[in-house]
Amino acid sequence: MDSFDLRGKAALVSGGNGGIGLGMARALAQAGAALAIAGRDAKKNAVAAAQLKAASICCDLREAAACRAMVDEAAARLGRLDILVNNAGTNIRKAPQDYSLEEWRSVLDTNLTSAFLASQAAYPHMKRAGGGKIVNIGSMMSLFGASFAAPYGASKGGVVQLTRSLAAAWARDNIQVNAVLPGWIDTALTRRARDEVAGLHERALARTPAGRWGTPEDLGGIAVFLASAASDFVTGTAIPVDGGYSSLG
Ligand code: NDP
Repeated sequence: MDSFDLRGKAALVSGGNGGIGLGMARALAQAGAALAIAGRDAKKNAVAAAQLKAASICCDLREAAACRAMVDEAAARLGRLDILVNNAGTNIRKAPQDYSLEEWRSVLDTNLTSAFLASQAAYPHMKRAGGGKIVNIGSMMSLFGASFAAPYGASKGGVVQLTRSLAAAWARDNIQVNAVLPGWIDTALTRRARDEVAGLHERALARTPAGRWGTPEDLGGIAVFLASAASDFVTGTAIPVDGGYSSLG
């Protein structure tokens, strides 16, 4: 269907060198988009960039200047920027009383502030092009609390409210801003979580109506939809892709 066609469009996926970001980047490339991916690990970047024929950008998005530079470099290397996926994310798991301020800031800066700063930097490029698409990655912890993830939950709740504010502000510029809320997806992040939190694997499995963990490929369809003309009247939403997890009380 033509409205899902991304040929002629340029996309930047932060954290596109692995996990969910790589799954979404692959789907965007298959739909025809030219791609840039960004992450800290030069080796992971090189492998993903070769697979996707993407430009790769090495950066630490906890630094404000790096968020802006990532966007400008992607736009320069691709010649335009139509699609920004703010996917880079991290977690530090412990009881709320045990976090240092540095740990709190590290999670908030990676997951929330970087999405704000990259979106801010993308705005002039998208406005100039007559429109654009921003896809922010939230979590089930945008909706639910977790005793072992206070800064992560705060950052992911913030991602949804940031999404709504940007969507309202930029709708007249034809820029649609939406959030995706993945359920439990098998990636490096959740492999670490399963190592650290006893019983997590079984609890997630038991609570997910689909009866399985998700895969990065499960996020491909929503990425293409929210990046394409098919979603031109969809903005400010937060869409779970969770095998039914959030539909249970
Ligand atoms: P991964 O750990 O596999 O991927 C995280 C990505 O973010 C990597 O590409 C990593 O690149 C990048 N990244 C992390 N920190 C930084 C940083 N400071 N600067 C630049 N890049 C960074 O995890 P997932 O694929 O699981 O997570 C992707 C997103 O999905 C995150 O926002 C996460 O919170 C969210 N999510 C994941 C869920 C899951 O079940 N897996 C569920 C809900 C949400 P590098 O290693 O090179 O730094």
